[in-house]
Amino acid sequence: MSRAFSNAALAHTFTGAVGNTPLIYLKRLSEKTGYHIYGKSELQNPGGSVKDRAALGLIQDAEAKGMIKPGGTIVEGTAGNTGIGLAHVCRARGYNCVIYMPNTQSQEKIDLLRMLGADVRPVPAVAYENPDNYNHQAKRFAESTDNAFWTNQFDNTANAHAHYVTTGPEIWEQTAGDLDAFICSTGTGGTLAGVGKYLKEKSNGKVQVWLADPPGSVLTSYYESGGKLVERTGSSITEGIGQGRITDNLATFVKKLDGAFTVPDEKSIAMVYELLDSEGLYLGVSSALNVVAAVELAEKLGKGSKVATILCDGAYRYQSRLFSKKWLASKDLDKVIPPHLMKYAVL
Ligand code: PMP
Repeated sequence: MSRAFSNAALAHTFTGAVGNTPLIYLKRLSEKTGYHIYGKSELQNPGGSVKDRAALGLIQDAEAKGMIKPGGTIVEGTAGNTGIGLAHVCRARGYNCVIYMPNTQSQEKIDLLRMLGADVRPVPAVAYENPDNYNHQAKRFAESTDNAFWTNQFDNTANAHAHYVTTGPEIWEQTAGDLDAFICSTGTGGTLAGVGKYLKEKSNGKVQVWLADPPGSVLTSYYESGGKLVERTGSSITEGIGQGRITDNLATFVKKLDGAFTVPDEKSIAMVYELLDSEGLYLGVSSALNVVAAVELAEKLGKGSKVATILCDGAYRYQSRLFSKKWLASKDLDKVIPPHLMKYAVL
């Protein structure tokens, strides 16, 4: 580092500090594989994840449309990062924040949301089709409360738009447009659709855009079957990604995808450890899945290809699992981590 302070713009409050994250060249991995792999370091957002952008975009859009007034209440159904992003934005902008979440979530996430001033309402974890699903409860509460707004991250396309106007342009500028492909996994689909649309437009379709799925998600089979939705089966250790339906955020983009494939948990967890050891990056499993997928896509595209993906969040919110030998063994995943990397499993 050449000087004590960077020349980055002065940020005003939390909301001014969202975005403009570094694009990290994964040097050791790129050298080892012969491809050029880039990770957008979304863990460096002030709330710690890629979802800060969506949270801010959803609230700014509601403000611009006059749907939320000073002192109002933001309501969302979320199991994690979106709620944390919303709770930060609500504190910074003076809104109340009500979060409905399935009662299966970790105590750490509930504690963090409450420390950020959110009114957390754990509800039984029932399927989306059930009217008592946490999303539907959030919607009902907002509808019956004065000056309340349900941000509706899955189907409110202000989510994908936030990525279209920030994440996409940042990646384009950071690579000077010299990129063959972009790939990432999806929860709401906001990141993939927003970034994908921007990169396709800017490159006149030259940049390929692919979707990476965890096990138990139906999006790969939807893509491969030309649009057939199957029942969700199977599960994954990943959190925040995988989907059983086509959200409105994804619907606008799904036909433009160049491909989709699934990454098994074994490869994703091994990559969590590899990225820590070789790049010094402490990342959650969805980031690791994205990096595995970026390398596999680069293999398909050929020697020297340049692929970018998203490093969605850090491992901090999951460390009691990811770095616990006992937890790894309980999921039959201890054997998939190379023995020399097991030294990182210190919990
Ligand atoms: N990774 C993590 C850890 C997440 O929490 C999420 C959002 N649920 C995603 C990836 C996917 O982002 P998106 O909702 O934009 O598809």
